[in-house]
Amino acid sequence: MSDAARTSVLGSTGAGDLFQLLRDGRPRTRAELAAITGLARSTIGLRLDALTSLGLVGPVADAISTGGRPPSRVALLPSARVVLAADLGASHAHVAITDLMGAELASHTEHLEISLGPEAVLGWMVEHTDALLERLGKTRADLIAAGIGLPGPVEFSTGRPVNPPIMPGWDAFDVPRWVKRHTESPGRSPLPVYVDNDVNIMALGERTHSWPDVDHLFFLKVATGIGSGIISAGQLQRGAQGIAGDIGHIPVARGAGIFCRCGNEGCLEAIASGPAIAAAMRRDGHDTASGSDVLDLVRSGDLDAVRAVRQAGRDIGEVLTTCVSLINPSVIALGGSMADAGEHLLAGVREVVYSRSMPLATEHLTIVQSRAADSAAILGASMLAIHYALSPEALDTLAAAN
Ligand SMILES: [Zn+2]
Repeated sequence: MSDAARTSVLGSTGAGDLFQLLRDGRPRTRAELAAITGLARSTIGLRLDALTSLGLVGPVADAISTGGRPPSRVALLPSARVVLAADLGASHAHVAITDLMGAELASHTEHLEISLGPEAVLGWMVEHTDALLERLGKTRADLIAAGIGLPGPVEFSTGRPVNPPIMPGWDAFDVPRWVKRHTESPGRSPLPVYVDNDVNIMALGERTHSWPDVDHLFFLKVATGIGSGIISAGQLQRGAQGIAGDIGHIPVARGAGIFCRCGNEGCLEAIASGPAIAAAMRRDGHDTASGSDVLDLVRSGDLDAVRAVRQAGRDIGEVLTTCVSLINPSVIALGGSMADAGEHLLAGVREVVYSRSMPLATEHLTIVQSRAADSAAILGASMLAIHYALSPEALDTLAAAN
C-alpha cells in the first residue's frame, strides 16, 4: 500500500463515529467537534473530508455571523441522500421517501392485502418508490437504504418472515434479496435493505418522534392483534428468533374458555384485541362487526363500549404488569387503532399496572397514548434503515472505498 493510500484509509477511519455526532442536524465548527471528541483539529479535518466526499456533510451558512470571516460550520446535509421507508400492514400499505433525518418528502398509501404474496406486494412497493422518486426529481441512485416493516415475525439478520400467521406465501421469503434485485441502479452497489416486524419499527418511530432521551421504552400495539416492541438500554430487543415482545398470546385470567386463532385458549389477544372486544359486545346484543365499530360507539359515549374497552385495558394491564417487572421501562406507549379509544383504554391499563406493580418500578413510569401515532411506522422504518446504513462501520467502509 502506498503512503497516500494508507493516509487516505487512516484518515477515513473514525469518520463514521464523527458522523454520529452530526446525526442530530446541528451545525458545529471544527473547534467544537474537536472539543467534544478530544481529537486533534487535523484529525477532525481528515474525517470531515471523508464525509464531505460522500456528500453527507457540508458547510452551512451561519445566520448569527456578524461580519468578518464567517466561522466555518459543518452539518449533516439531510437531503444529500434519501431513504425508502415502507410500512406493509395486513390490509394497508404505506411507502415513503424520507430524508436522512427521517422526514417524509413524498408518500403513498393504499388499501393492499398482504396476503397477495411477497412478489405482488413488494412489486407494488418498488413501483411506487420509482414514482415517488420521480416526483421528487430523484432516481434510484439517490437511495442510501431501505427499511421495511411487515405484520409478522421477521428473522432480522436475514430479513425473512418466520411462519407469519396472516401472510400466506411469505414464510422464509428472502425480502432483501428480492428488493435489491428489483431496485438495481447502473454503476451502483445493491441497495442495503433492512426488514423488521411492524411493532418493532413503530417502537423505533415512537422513540425518535417523542422520546429521544428515553432508553427504556415499551411500545404496545393494540389493533387486530396485540404485540409490543421493546427498547431496552437504548437498543431494540428482538430476541433469538425475532419474536421478543410477541405478548398477544400470553394467557390471562379472564380468558379461560375463550379460544384464540393461534390454537390456544385464554390468550390476551383473544379477549382484548379490536375483533375480540367487538365479538364480546356482539354476544351482549350489540351490532359491532369490528374494532372500529367499537371505537365509533366509544366516541358516541356508549357506556357498554366504554366499559368493554376499559376492561380490555385491564386485561392488557395484567400482562403489562409482568412486562414491567421483567424490563422496567420508563415509558409505555400505547399505539395501534384501538389506542384511539384514548383515555378509556389507558385508564384500564393504568389501573392494573399501577396497583399491581412494585412501587419502585412505577415511581417514574409514564403510561401514555403513542404520540407519533400514524407516523410511527414510517418514521421507524426510515430510522431502521438509517441506523444501519449510516452506522460507524458502514460509513467507514464507504469512506474507505470512496
Ligand atoms: Zn393465541
